Amino acid sequence: MATRCIRGAITVEADDRTAVLAGTERMLREIIAQNNIKIEDISSIIFTATDDIKSVYPAVAARAIGIVDAALMCVQELYIEGSLRKCIRVMVSIESDKAQSEMNHVYLEGAKALRPDIVKKNSKLAVAIDGPAGSGKSTVAKLLAKKYSLVYVDTGAMYRAVGLYCLENNIDADSADAVAQVLEDIDIRLENSEGMQRIYLAERDVTDAIRTQKAAEYASKVAAIPAVRSALVELQRSLAEKQSVVMDGRDIGSNVLKDAQVKVYLDAAVGERAERRCHELAEKGIVADKTKIEQEIEQRDKNDKNRQCNPLTVAPDAVIIDTTEMSIEEVRDAIGKLIENKIKG
Ligand code: C5P
Repeated sequence: MATRCIRGAITVEADDRTAVLAGTERMLREIIAQNNIKIEDISSIIFTATDDIKSVYPAVAARAIGIVDAALMCVQELYIEGSLRKCIRVMVSIESDKAQSEMNHVYLEGAKALRPDIVKKNSKLAVAIDGPAGSGKSTVAKLLAKKYSLVYVDTGAMYRAVGLYCLENNIDADSADAVAQVLEDIDIRLENSEGMQRIYLAERDVTDAIRTQKAAEYASKVAAIPAVRSALVELQRSLAEKQSVVMDGRDIGSNVLKDAQVKVYLDAAVGERAERRCHELAEKGIVADKTKIEQEIEQRDKNDKNRQCNPLTVAPDAVIIDTTEMSIEEVRDAIGKLIENKIKG
């Protein structure tokens, strides 16, 4: 066992007891959960608060979640021009047999940023992951989002939401005119927390509803319509302008985020991709026909690669990773290396 440090930061809405206590407790709970820590292994915690926070209750927050023996200290930060406002930070020291590099640092609310110990100040990172259906993009993107405190943007979910809208409202997804006509009525909203994305059609949460086979088929059709693409690409770019993102899709490196610092194209044999999809469905208790899934994937790949507007293609500066024989952890670590090389300069 050795002493390891975990960092955390959260911004709060107001400098009052309720907001500050709730924020501090939430950050500590997340640190404990994400690192699988036993309370008794915490030896000390240093808290800091920006100079616009007066209501700091580190001991109250720590006791509320059962931390009683650790040494606590709280200090106020100096004002640094341009720095985050109403921010509470912690450095938690624990006894652990894991390596320091395995610690999961936690950044919540407005403090969402890349680990400040490895990233250049104020830089925004964009990681683009493209590839055909079932190549493992979304699974690995979620892992990377969590590890590097990036916002995960699943662009396929956006096309699926438009597809679902057409499906449910009897709009002919093969007709560019019919779809373009209703485009203004489709209100897509994304919510992100803890490396996960939820997607809404107006006020309705459709995160699960878009995952059906029919919605995927409709998504693939509407994705060929230029008006749909330009509306969604605009939304995708605006998300990447505001924050560091890991974005997955078909045209991210080649079109949406041409300047992304890290571009990856994931591929895998179609049989393996169908196998993974069957496995996913089996976990949900659905028995699937692998041959049918393979045909469906091939059809979608064909649509995506052959459409006129922003087809699925490998960006010239993308790193191609064939994941057929790789575990998801191996894929995560391979892309993680590319990210760390970039942000360390
Ligand atoms: O990745 P996912 O399977 O959820 O994507 C659903 C469909 O949305 C794809 O088959 C593709 O036709 C479309 N899509 C796209 N461009 C993206 C993301 C997805 O055309 N950037």
